[in-house]
Amino acid sequence: MSGNVAVIGAGFGGLSTAIVLARLGLRVTLIEGEARAGGVLRSYTREGVDCPVGVHYFGSAAPGELLGDFFDVLQIRSALRLRRMGQGGVIDRFFFDDEVFELPDTAERFEANLMARFPDAPEAVAFVMRVCRAAMASLRTDTPEPVPPLLPMTRTAAEVLAEMNLPRRLVDILALQGFLLGVDLSVCPAAFLLMATASLLMSAWELGCTGAEMAEALTRRALALGTDLIVGDAATEILVKNGRAAGVRLQSGRTIPADTVAAAIHPKTTVGLLGPQTLPASYREGIGRLRETDGILCVTALLDEEDHPPLDHNLYRVRGSPSRRLAGVYGQLRPAGLPGKTRLTVLAETTYAEWARWHDTTTGRREPEYRAEKARRAAQALREIEEVTGPLRQPRIIDVWTPLTMRDWVAAPEGCTYGAKHSARDGLDFLVLCRPPLPGLFLVGQNAIAPGLLGVSMGVLRVAASIAGRQPLADLMARSRGRATS
Ligand SMILES: Cc1cc2nc3c(=O)[nH]c(=O)nc-3n(C[C@H](O)[C@H](O)[C@H](O)COP(=O)(O)OP(=O)(O)OC[C@H]3O[C@@H](n4cnc5c(N)ncnc54)[C@H](O)[C@@H]3O)c2cc1C
Repeated sequence: MSGNVAVIGAGFGGLSTAIVLARLGLRVTLIEGEARAGGVLRSYTREGVDCPVGVHYFGSAAPGELLGDFFDVLQIRSALRLRRMGQGGVIDRFFFDDEVFELPDTAERFEANLMARFPDAPEAVAFVMRVCRAAMASLRTDTPEPVPPLLPMTRTAAEVLAEMNLPRRLVDILALQGFLLGVDLSVCPAAFLLMATASLLMSAWELGCTGAEMAEALTRRALALGTDLIVGDAATEILVKNGRAAGVRLQSGRTIPADTVAAAIHPKTTVGLLGPQTLPASYREGIGRLRETDGILCVTALLDEEDHPPLDHNLYRVRGSPSRRLAGVYGQLRPAGLPGKTRLTVLAETTYAEWARWHDTTTGRREPEYRAEKARRAAQALREIEEVTGPLRQPRIIDVWTPLTMRDWVAAPEGCTYGAKHSARDGLDFLVLCRPPLPGLFLVGQNAIAPGLLGVSMGVLRVAASIAGRQPLADLMARSRGRATS
């Protein structure tokens, strides 16, 4: 295989694209605007405590499962020191206003929990389990033929569920995975219904290393495979020659000629890097119409371990009815890495509009009013999580970030958490964004198909197959399965 590929953006999407293509024999130049690779994957340290950003937990990472095989192709499994979740039988605890529902660690236990909660709706539970098991099968890589998901991409989950006449609370439970995908049922492509949950029921995991170490492990792999990594020099233009993407111009003025360009950045940013005549107007307008996923306010606090021992599952305080509107906070209590301390992480949904008055400011240079608003919202987020942890004794907040931080950090429009919103209402052309209508240009990363490590890996594999061929990729995956290298 020969050819040069320029990859724009070195988050999980760009780094893994670089590694997979390099392993398939292509020469890769990876371009990152920030000083360090990693994007939202990279965690940071405050007062000696590692603060995770874009990786809290994920599913289907055992060998023979999609993300597990992907980690093996990337040759980073041993560096990640993966920790299996659910040893206590629970992965997520959902605290509704009036009841608690547990996401357990296997499909059998999930079915049992549903049967116990909805004894009068056995057909509804059977339908949910059918969809769930189909999603699980579609994430297995050790089956002779790929199994497609049971439900379509172009209808919304809400439409499909309305036909099934399920109990409202059961729909609420299904809607909750929207927290993981950044979409609610009204727009979520039906095929994604239960995909995230199914992946967790196959096997749920946490990193045993930090996010920063994962970013470094990926960077090391990419460099060891001969990737030319350029950092601190953002792409400002995608060059087009004879109707094909032909390279990238950087902020410094340097140009990187390439046979293929893979953009692992937001699609609106990608379109902005292309001259006006390079894409059909309808495509440009379609991308412009895509909405962003909402933002997040993240609070990290230290607690005394004696009062608040770490938990091995996640907490969701769900407000109202998520099948109508997703609202609430997500929390993790984990060892802080400091003696006697527990780290509390709380993610609360918030819109960009709520922070828009500081739109023209940049991180580190914002006025006291912004800091006061952050402190107010952080206190509110802690009050919400207290409803499920019990009163927090002397929490010490060590960091708070907002959608503006996310916007400045990884150039995410409106500080969107999971990139452009993947909505069944946008039609297939704007739902799966891997192949824009410009030969030689591909989109990878969380905007291409779906967010999260799992969604990104699906998109990267699809693009790698288009660039290097299905068979070489299938051979590479088969060769890599279960081989721990780091
Ligand atoms: C708060 C939060 C929690 C999450 N939790 C989980 C979780 O628990 N489990 C899970 O599976 N997923 C989770 N995710 C999602 C997951 O982290 C992301 O889907 C994934 O990391 C996105 O990778 P990416 O490469 O697409 O994007 P990014 O990480 O955003 O990377 C894009 C990169 O491109 C660079 N860039 C942008 N513009 C340019 C330019 N013009 N030139 C050069 N470089 C440029 C940016 O600096 C950045 O490094 C979470 C995300 C967030 C934000």
